[in-house]
Amino acid sequence: MIDKEKILDTPDPVCGLKINPQKAKFSSKIGEQSYYFCSGECKKKFDLDPHKYSNSNEYPLDE
Ligand SMILES: [Zn+2]
Repeated sequence: MIDKEKILDTPDPVCGLKINPQKAKFSSKIGEQSYYFCSGECKKKFDLDPHKYSNSNEYPLDE
């Protein structure tokens, strides 16, 4: 059952925790997409290798 969703939580791409974007202290922006993190650790991991964690097809891999 889902209660009324006041704000859409978005999953932390690194650890999968649901993050409230309005309360998130850590975020990164890749192209048009913003990612939110539970901690600086997760943000650090993401920033080191964003493509590993983002499933975005908008951004072609440069490999
Ligand atoms: Zn996290």
